[in-house]
Amino acid sequence: MDHLRGAIRTYAWGSRTAIAEFTGRPVPAAHPEAELWLGAHPGDPARLETGDGEVSLLDVLAADPEGQLGAVALARFGDRLPMLVKVLAADEPLSLQAHPSTAQALEGYQREERLGVPVTSPIRNYRDTSHKPELLVALAPFEALAGFRPVARTIELLRALSVSDLDPFIDLLAGPDGVLAEDGQTDADGLRALFTTWITAPQPDLDVLVPAVLEGAIHYLSSGPAEFAAEARTVLELGERYPGDAGVLAALLLNRISLAPGEAIFVSAGNLHTYLHGVGLEVMANSDNVLRGGLTPKHVDVPELLRVLDFTPTTEEELRPKTRVEGPELIYATPAEEFAVSQVTLDGDYLGHEVDAPSRHCDGQGPQILLCTRGSVTVHAKSGSLTLQRGESAWVSSDDGPIRLLAQKPASLYRATIGL
Ligand SMILES: [Zn+2]
Repeated sequence: MDHLRGAIRTYAWGSRTAIAEFTGRPVPAAHPEAELWLGAHPGDPARLETGDGEVSLLDVLAADPEGQLGAVALARFGDRLPMLVKVLAADEPLSLQAHPSTAQALEGYQREERLGVPVTSPIRNYRDTSHKPELLVALAPFEALAGFRPVARTIELLRALSVSDLDPFIDLLAGPDGVLAEDGQTDADGLRALFTTWITAPQPDLDVLVPAVLEGAIHYLSSGPAEFAAEARTVLELGERYPGDAGVLAALLLNRISLAPGEAIFVSAGNLHTYLHGVGLEVMANSDNVLRGGLTPKHVDVPELLRVLDFTPTTEEELRPKTRVEGPELIYATPAEEFAVSQVTLDGDYLGHEVDAPSRHCDGQGPQILLCTRGSVTVHAKSGSLTLQRGESAWVSSDDGPIRLLAQKPASLYRATIGL
């Protein structure tokens, strides 16, 4: 077990304060810091602070895959860490995006290989053969758009904006007779028709429709307390940044989600989403497969996006994973084999003595990444102990568990393990 020093990624949408403050470095940072990667991604592996200096986690895994990952994970995923853990700090919205299923990723990767698109090319969609399910847990208030909202509610929102230019599009959702179909498949067909119309619309059409929607949103917000205030404000914010972008219209179709610290959403294959603002812990399968749908200067491959999107409407409640409590641990129930996440809260009766914290996956083995988010926690493993302060993380190899935890004052840490 060693302290794990994450790799900081600077992107324009990041924060000059959040990650620097969290990790105890001078504020403001020199560049907007968007992500802190705690994993063994070949592009930017985290480093272990060992007695002999810093070592890349990638090299540590290569030297002793079975001891680090355990036999169960090794048999399923080979000698690489299948998950990537990130602290994400968004001061500005990210691009609208979706991730493929395993079958889509494999097919897409092979297709792009056959076509000879270099894996590093900016127009490459599939950089590996993995799906990329992701869990986002808010560490501070977090704002997101995710999943197509149930159609009846979207029609209410579009009507509330009172934009006559939207009428033909409302008809696409409501059906030809203006009567909303009962069955979900028809709703998905309507969403597919509408989204496809918008995302493929000629630019001159968007240059009329997007400003009309923004006008409608301004008028809607100025006429008193409004049911869809958060949705309207988000559309205005996105429209200001990306005038004439079809992604601004697409944002009208997605659930507008506000997460309090500790609350989470699980994003499965085909889910159109974007993170708007906030600090969160993001745990995902170790993949770079992203199909963008706008709100970005980067490459947008519309046909490929349409191929992977899941237009089945979903409620915010369905996106929030169920949780269960075992001792001091709150476990987020997610279906991915690549990762599992829990939050350990040490307070009350759990203070002042060592608390068992067995891993609940990989037959009690498997590696663990720990991230302290409040207070100070001493972690005891087979090889010794270390103390994590807020913002610090640790790598516990498979053969170094199970761990016990000790805190004298209220403390919290997140634990990511493989989900098998
Ligand atoms: Zn994503």
